[in-house]
Amino acid sequence: MARVYYDNDADVDFLKGKTVAVIGYGNQGRAQALNLRDSGLKVIVGVRADETREQARADGFAVFPIEEAARKARVVMFLIPDEVVPEVFRAQVLPGMSHGKCLCFASGYNVAFKLLEPPKGIDVVLVAPRMIGAGVRQRYLEAKGFPSFIAVHQDATGNGLKTTLAIAKGIGSTRRGVMLLTFAQEAELDLFTEQAFGPAFGQVLLSAIQTLVDAGYPVEAAMVELILSGEFAYSMGKIAEMGFFPQMELHSHTSQYGSMTRSVRFMDPKTSETMRQVLQEIRSGAFAREWDAELKAGLPVFNQIREMRNVHPIAEWDRKTRNAFRIG
Ligand code: NDP
Repeated sequence: MARVYYDNDADVDFLKGKTVAVIGYGNQGRAQALNLRDSGLKVIVGVRADETREQARADGFAVFPIEEAARKARVVMFLIPDEVVPEVFRAQVLPGMSHGKCLCFASGYNVAFKLLEPPKGIDVVLVAPRMIGAGVRQRYLEAKGFPSFIAVHQDATGNGLKTTLAIAKGIGSTRRGVMLLTFAQEAELDLFTEQAFGPAFGQVLLSAIQTLVDAGYPVEAAMVELILSGEFAYSMGKIAEMGFFPQMELHSHTSQYGSMTRSVRFMDPKTSETMRQVLQEIRSGAFAREWDAELKAGLPVFNQIREMRNVHPIAEWDRKTRNAFRIG
């Protein structure tokens, strides 16, 4: 198993007195900046827009243009959307990355797929929370922690791992445990969830709704039964909390018997084969090249698919059910 590090393995004081610049003040940026400051570190914020600047100021941070924040800091945390990172890095961060500094990402994507080439002489590390920004802050305040994947891509100072662990502890993650992977592994796992597990699950959900509607059940009943009641989401939460089989004990014997005897019927080797193909496209870099070309072309396919979402039957079923049950 890859090594997992906990609070006792990490020392936030290693970064005491060194300036940490959080670039971007969105989902992760705000949560991580607040956590690092509450952990005793000197945090400044680098942003471009007025609205975000005001929010960071209202939270009590010294706020600078991105280029200046990167120049002032020893550790630069890159917390803006992955698709804009390469350009912002080249134009605004690179000039300030002198020898001995540390560049910390929350996603391995750009480095793993070589969309960004960091200069020699700096540390390049990863602290990628497996948690949305709001959860990063909430779990820090509750002293609960959350898992993260960490990695050291370039260790110019010899202190790359120490710095990574200090950041991971500063944002509150080592309380739960952080696993040492590579940038590529983190990026590939993340894309696999988005491109294989998520869509496969989405298709199963659509098939289930369609099966019930075709059999004559009211669409609103199917939607509530399968998704809008939150019952299934609750069970997924319990799987994460208690484990796959232990959570089954929360269900009736009828439910357990029916689910265990029928589950084998859904074992479809084609699903695994498709997942392997999707993973292969991710690992070979084919997906990253496709997405880069799409971004450079101005997102024609992306925008077309987004339009199609509005006319997909589930959009209407969702609206009807929400109205009927006064949800949202
Ligand atoms: P957000 O979309 O919340 O980032 C918003 C911030 O990025 C804002 O401050 C925004 O500034 C700034 N920004 C956007 N575009 C630009 C630009 N062109 N130039 C300068 N600043 C810009 O990002 P996330 O917090 O969701 O993601 C940040 C990183 O964290 C990513 O690497 C992501 O993969 C990773 N991550 C995200 C998770 C999540 O829960 N969302 C979970 C784990 C990792 P402005 O106000 O000026 O637009």
